[in-house]
Amino acid sequence: MDVVTMLFMSLVAAAAAAGFLAFEWRTLRNRVLLFWSAGFAVIVLGSSLSLLRAYSFLVGVWFANGLLVVAHLLFLFGVARFTGRRVAPLWWGLLLPWAGLLILPEGIDPTPVFAITGSTLVALVALKAAHGLLSRSGAPFEERTAASDGLGFVFAIHGAFYAAKALMVPLPGAFVSIVGFKGVLIQVSLVEGIVVEVLLALLMAAAVRRRREEAMTALAERDALTGLYNRRAFESRAQAALDAMAARHRPGALLLLDIDRFKTVNDSFGHAAGDRLLVALAEVLTEVLEAGPTREAIPARLGGDEFVILVPGLDEAAVQALGAAIGARMARARRRDLPAGATVSIGAALFTAGLAKPDLSLETLTASADAALYEAKRQGRDRLHVRRLVQPAAERGCGHRRADTAPSPLASGEGCCA
Ligand code: GH3
Ligand code: MG
Repeated sequence: MDVVTMLFMSLVAAAAAAGFLAFEWRTLRNRVLLFWSAGFAVIVLGSSLSLLRAYSFLVGVWFANGLLVVAHLLFLFGVARFTGRRVAPLWWGLLLPWAGLLILPEGIDPTPVFAITGSTLVALVALKAAHGLLSRSGAPFEERTAASDGLGFVFAIHGAFYAAKALMVPLPGAFVSIVGFKGVLIQVSLVEGIVVEVLLALLMAAAVRRRREEAMTALAERDALTGLYNRRAFESRAQAALDAMAARHRPGALLLLDIDRFKTVNDSFGHAAGDRLLVALAEVLTEVLEAGPTREAIPARLGGDEFVILVPGLDEAAVQALGAAIGARMARARRRDLPAGATVSIGAALFTAGLAKPDLSLETLTASADAALYEAKRQGRDRLHVRRLVQPAAERGCGHRRADTAPSPLASGEGCCA
């Protein structure tokens, strides 16, 4: 295939990529796609102008190849937006050496100088983009996916190819004429260009779509007011945690929390104040749970003024400490900006997973925690009441329950082993 046909194919591929990414932008509204669509549009312009190289060296070679560097910089800044990792605007300074080629002294053959400079600049920008997508150091880029890793690898290979191209320019026969499109390097480069254009456009669109899917899933799992998990998300996560706990006969606690006389808060201070109290309680829970033995906790808002927490690995003393910490933080919040009577009652079900047949279900645990919550309310509110789901006395060594005892149905009890 002759070089002009290949260049034309590359031009068509870039135009398709620019149009495809602009179309994706209309649906997904992610600015990364605009940067990239603009990058491909610049490649289309550059490729078109390069067809004029026989007529004007300035337009067909210098300007056209400079546009290739500009397109890569647009890709790089699109990648920076995508990863959230800052790229210094100083990178646009790479266009300065390109501008410097205009004042190349007379008598120096411009062909190898232009080829080496252009390839080196493209290599630098592509490798920087690969680094942004693949590196694990520096500012975190948490949302890596197969598509974003794929993008990183394509940029890495593309960058390595252009670095190799810069090194091979001086080899005899590799790069014959920049104006006449002669030499094996130019031909290989055009094929590489078409493949890379198609891969980059498809992978970036896939990466942006994947991120949007993940954001929508995350949104569907959250309670809109407090940002905690909602009931549905809690149930699936709690069930998975219970299964994992059962496999290792781990102890744990399920806590139900309910704001005391919440209706009165709504009635006296308004619905907005009630909402603020719900958000404040969610913040208290997040703060209290984020460190120490409660790191694995799964907190959620079940609806209304009812919250739930499943905490794997917690014993009774730790549950008491957790209840006290929640009470203390609520008291501190009351001194700041919450209504004076804003307190919380907590019912906790303590259990060891994996000892009963059939195994303890989430419903059983919730019913037990609900009974404990009822008791906390009955005893005057603003307190924690604990119920222990324990084995029948005959099979139980108080406080020394053995994992190898024959499984038996668990009975609910209070005060046992105290
Ligand atoms: P108790 O101490 O027995 O729990 O009394 P209570 O008044 O808190 O009773 P209950 O828990 O049944 O009250 C729930 C109230 O929560 C009723 C409802 O108006 C209110 N509520 C439910 N969802 C929301 C919400 O999203 N925002 C606000 N502000 N109020 C809500
Ligand atoms: Mg309530």
